[in-house]
Amino acid sequence: MQELTHYINGEHVSGTSGRFADVMNPATGEVQAQVPLATVAEIDDAVAKAAEVQKVWGATNPQKRARVMMKFGALINEHMDELAEMLSREHGKTIPDAKGDVQRGLEVIEVCMGAPHMLKGEFTDAGGPGIDLHSMRQPLGVVAAITPFNFPAMIPLWKMGPALAAGNTMILKPSERVPSTALRLGELLKEAGLPDGALQIVNGDKEAVDALLDNETIQAVGFVGSTPIAQYIYSRATANGKRAQCFGGAKNHMIIMPDADLDKAADALVGAGFGAAGERCMAISVAVPVGKETADALTEKLIPRIEALKVGPYTAGDDIDFGPVITAASQARINGLVESGVEQGAKLVVDGRNFKLQGYENGFFVGPSYFDDVTPEMDIYKEEIFGPVLSQVRMDNYEDALQLIMDNDYGNGTAIYTADGDTARDFAHRVNVGMVGINFPIPVPLSYHTFGGWKKSAFGDLNQYGPDAFRFYTRTKTVTSRWFSGIKEGGEFNFKAMD
Ligand code: NAD
Repeated sequence: MQELTHYINGEHVSGTSGRFADVMNPATGEVQAQVPLATVAEIDDAVAKAAEVQKVWGATNPQKRARVMMKFGALINEHMDELAEMLSREHGKTIPDAKGDVQRGLEVIEVCMGAPHMLKGEFTDAGGPGIDLHSMRQPLGVVAAITPFNFPAMIPLWKMGPALAAGNTMILKPSERVPSTALRLGELLKEAGLPDGALQIVNGDKEAVDALLDNETIQAVGFVGSTPIAQYIYSRATANGKRAQCFGGAKNHMIIMPDADLDKAADALVGAGFGAAGERCMAISVAVPVGKETADALTEKLIPRIEALKVGPYTAGDDIDFGPVITAASQARINGLVESGVEQGAKLVVDGRNFKLQGYENGFFVGPSYFDDVTPEMDIYKEEIFGPVLSQVRMDNYEDALQLIMDNDYGNGTAIYTADGDTARDFAHRVNVGMVGINFPIPVPLSYHTFGGWKKSAFGDLNQYGPDAFRFYTRTKTVTSRWFSGIKEGGEFNFKAMD
């Protein structure tokens, strides 16, 4: 059995706790490795070293730090196939999907190559007699990142890129279910020139997370995961005086208007609803067709597309649409929710329960399910299923469809399919959701914009990546200075002195 490590001070280090978590192969249901779960002492030691290194790294000029990002980006590209395979082996997603995971992280690293531009301060010349003001952005010190299982490369990269480029050092605690990709990224960053100890990767569970939240040296916590844990981490981190941004779960709706191109809408729904087995925080899990005719026509188009989806292990090649879900518990939970949908009166149009794949009977596969006539009181509507299940809620008109989304607790992403610019504009303007797609099913903003949800999908201030990330990972200091040569006796400003 392979025993994984932590990555501390630029080296692989065995765990000392004697506690381990199993890392599964979700396609076969076998344990493929064990990952050590860090103790409070291991966390505190890693933080202490990161604090020492930060003094040097934070004082390194921004362009030199950006060059490390440049080399890192090149190395990620060079190792794309290896990273994708490593990621799929633990997560289960298809290879094209795994490459997308790495690629969307890499794009944030590319923006970090221009970090000096983001870190420039502001200057006011002659704000008063002989008085100038300038503000600067300084790194926070040591920061922590706690990341989920569903994007083993992308989310660690979203965190480490801006934090390190801004001159912080970081403790990363990746998901204990998919630790290998983050460990490999740590090695590549070292190869790119990052000083040892600037990125400490510690594996662990709640004990490690709590140690990070309570460690006085840690200045900021960036979290991505489920809403209850996001809320918990936000409360504990801020109670301890830390800056925190905690991104949570989602329930993303797509409105399909009567004037939409229904073939394009159906294709988009199948990709956004079932891709990566629905284990995306930007997955569309609720289709909201407007009007009976639209709903009936859409249903007819969706059924054959959903029934044609191929489920299998990533090793089966490119014609697999999605792989297994992450754990046996997740598989059982999803099947249970589908069961509850039937019991609570929704119409199960495509039934993905009891899906079995020959040769992979112990894998955590779930077939695609599609419900029609779902209502907001049902558990399948209220819960984030995080599996290959699409619910259809029929609405009579646009206003009711919009209100459904507005009333939902989550506000990560949403989309509308329509041919009408006024409706699209009205939707984008009024909806209380952080990321909006117009004829675009998964509106993850490009890496030089920023990513973040509203309502129970995010706690704290500022979004991930883009300009917001550089604000989150720096503190502003403003200096007001006065030099007396610019002031005539009596306090009047001497314009001549400016010549
Ligand atoms: P999770 O909340 O179970 O775990 C996330 C991290 O928190 C992991 O590192 C885990 O070790 C840690 N953790 C788990 N339980 C903890 C506890 N009790 N105390 C302290 N730490 C704990 O989430 P997950 O299952 O890994 O990921 C899926 C969730 O993440 C979904 O809800 C999904 O919507 C969400 N997600 C959100 C975004 C976003 O940007 N909003 C992006 C990706 C995923």
